[in-house]
Amino acid sequence: EGAIRFDEVHFAYDPERAILKGISFEVPPGKTVAIVGPSGAGKSTISRLLFRFYDIQSGSITIDGQDVRDVTQKSLRAAIGMVPQDTVLFNDTIAYNVRYGRFDASEDEIRKAAELAQIGPFIESLPDGYRTMVGERGLKLSGGEKQRVAIARTILKAPPILILDEATSALDTHTEQEIQAALDMVSRGRTTLVIAHRLSTVISADEIIVLKDGRIAERGTHRALLDSG
Ligand code: ADP
Ligand code: ADP
Repeated sequence: EGAIRFDEVHFAYDPERAILKGISFEVPPGKTVAIVGPSGAGKSTISRLLFRFYDIQSGSITIDGQDVRDVTQKSLRAAIGMVPQDTVLFNDTIAYNVRYGRFDASEDEIRKAAELAQIGPFIESLPDGYRTMVGERGLKLSGGEKQRVAIARTILKAPPILILDEATSALDTHTEQEIQAALDMVSRGRTTLVIAHRLSTVISADEIIVLKDGRIAERGTHRALLDSG
């Protein structure tokens, strides 16, 4: 379920400046591929193209053999779960934010997802210090805590495809390790695209793709890339 394929993808936001100059890769069903490269290399662009927020100039992007141009926004959003770099939350309880996208979830499912993502204690609070009805202040969540809300939402949604955009970047080391374990659990058996700055954060990916100047500069396992220097 959820095979992703980019075939000779050319893309530019602005016709004067190509961002992707013929990118081809595949994420087989249930596997994890990491896209690594310096800031501005076009990593996040790849995730936006998967959601078809923009049309490519040439090449093709398919999910399970189906061109994303032939898939509705609604099905794309249902099939793909994203843990973005900066999570923007709704001005409602954390529980509501976790349920968002799966309003049929039971209280029990929500609690479990929140516990795995370690946001259990503040599930009934409001993010960002908004005022509640009774006049008390909500919490001021840190970037890492907001990210954990996005992780809980993704655990609950359990989509066939996951995009983790520097998913643990805003976390401290201790929390990062625990959240990484939760992410490993949720990504097991799912087609996963990890977007990362550093090779060291994607050791267990089945394949790592290094983007440079709009092209794939190198690809292989973590070990193979280290061996090749
Ligand atoms: P990365 O995720 O690797 O840091 P991005 O995919 O965000 O890189 O961006 C790749 C390049 O495209 C950058 O030079 C960035 O400035 C440019 N870019 C990103 N979004 C837009 C946009 N909406 N319009 C024009 N240029 C953009
Ligand atoms: P959400 O508020 O959870 O993002 P949406 O209905 O807007 O809910 O999005 C549905 C799916 O699309 C979610 O998995 C979400 O993370 C993803 N998504 C939404 N906006 C973006 C974006 N700008 N870039 C990438 N993925 C997005």
